[in-house]
Amino acid sequence: MFNASLKQLSIQLADKKVSSVELTKEYLQRIKTLNAEYNAFITVNEELSLAQAQLADQMIASGQAGTLTGIPIAQKDIFCAKDWLTTCGSKMLSNFVSPYDAGVIERFNQAGAVNIGKTNMDEFAMGSSNETSFYGPVRNPWDVAAVPGGSSGGSASAVAARLAPAATGTDTGGSIRQPAALCGISGIKPTYGLVSRYGMIAFASSLDQGGPMAKSAEDLALMLNVMTGFDARDSTSLQRDEEDYARDLEKPLLGLRIGLPKEYFAKGMSPDVERAVEQALNEYRQLGAETVEVSLPNSSLSIPVYYVLAPAEASSNLSRFDGVRYGYRAKSYGDLNDMYRKSRTQGFGAEVKRRILIGTYVLSHGYYDAYYIKAQKVRRLIAQDFADAFKQCDIMMGPTSPTVAFDIGEKSSDPIQMYLSDIYTSAASLAGLPGMSIPVGFGDKNRPVGLHIIGNYFTEAKMLNAAHQYQQATDWHQQAPGNIGI
Ligand code: GLN
Repeated sequence: MFNASLKQLSIQLADKKVSSVELTKEYLQRIKTLNAEYNAFITVNEELSLAQAQLADQMIASGQAGTLTGIPIAQKDIFCAKDWLTTCGSKMLSNFVSPYDAGVIERFNQAGAVNIGKTNMDEFAMGSSNETSFYGPVRNPWDVAAVPGGSSGGSASAVAARLAPAATGTDTGGSIRQPAALCGISGIKPTYGLVSRYGMIAFASSLDQGGPMAKSAEDLALMLNVMTGFDARDSTSLQRDEEDYARDLEKPLLGLRIGLPKEYFAKGMSPDVERAVEQALNEYRQLGAETVEVSLPNSSLSIPVYYVLAPAEASSNLSRFDGVRYGYRAKSYGDLNDMYRKSRTQGFGAEVKRRILIGTYVLSHGYYDAYYIKAQKVRRLIAQDFADAFKQCDIMMGPTSPTVAFDIGEKSSDPIQMYLSDIYTSAASLAGLPGMSIPVGFGDKNRPVGLHIIGNYFTEAKMLNAAHQYQQATDWHQQAPGNIGI
């Protein structure tokens, strides 16, 4: 049962082979047994989960069930959920019980899904390893010495350890794709604006995007069908016709043009990752796709640009977070120091403090043009590179992460090394393009490797099609860690 797809679970619920209450209890029991080992959840609330499961069983009994009705879904602790502790991985919010639901949570509730718990994450989603969480590091179920990736590491670990059938994540520069890759699961960051950011605690608002994390592309499609849609309470939410993201899953890939950005294959990728990615590309050729070399000449600037823009947006968000105390963005070093001192008393962790300092610096008088405005200009060029390259291909592929999961503690004292985890994912974020990761094998120490798929705007159905066809031909996505007790 714990390896079942969402579709299989849905059929079992419809056929009354299992009730939502029973299913929910099974997962709660697994979490109770195994969460101490993985630290994937910050909050579990049996009462709230079981109340939702009871409602789901009523929906099923009265013939009102949708695909996800009655299915437990783990929610990243960045999504405000009514009556649930919602911490965003921070001490700042360690006593915040949300009085309202995020847009995404509302959609899952309407679909009759069960919130099975709030997953651990890097503090305010700032990190690539889940080590910045106030609630302690998350462990990778493939090897508990390894990080699960971040910032949606709790969600990735929960799905990989089969503590939940699927989960939500958010991605600002790679936080769905990189943990999906490191934990051997599938994850997709949709086109910016498709998933409501209302009630999703902001990190960098022009980049943040919610998305699903699951065992397969098919599961991701079913999750996206619930998660996407216009929300008037999010000013960058897109108003578009509803689509069925599963509609193209079964299409053959004959003639699909896969662009391989030459900059992503040049250097920096470790040999074990390269082997698995090359093998996956060969599989795609066998499925009838052709590969063409494309170029993204400005992609090497995506990390520096991201680390100007994301902290800039974060610093203004976090100062607004406690606006009365912080006033507005700092205009001088004196103000900056003052803000820093106050943030210390508020108990931000070291990485958040670092971001506030960087962000305030690049926005301050005298540096704004040199850093912030320049980064905005390069962001535009990065987006243009993609527009040019998509004239020659339908989708792009490459590695999701330059290495397999690293050890806990290995990069935590070296921010630059940590930031480079997103070297392949951040450009798509800056361009607002959809990106996904699927498991394609194992590298050093038998740790999972992810293939990165970048699509043009609104081509999620095509990306999911490409991923699903690969998953029909291979079984990497069905493999589960050996020590999770199933
Ligand atoms: N690792 C990146 C960072 O630390 C991206 C995080 C994210 O996508 N939320 O900012």
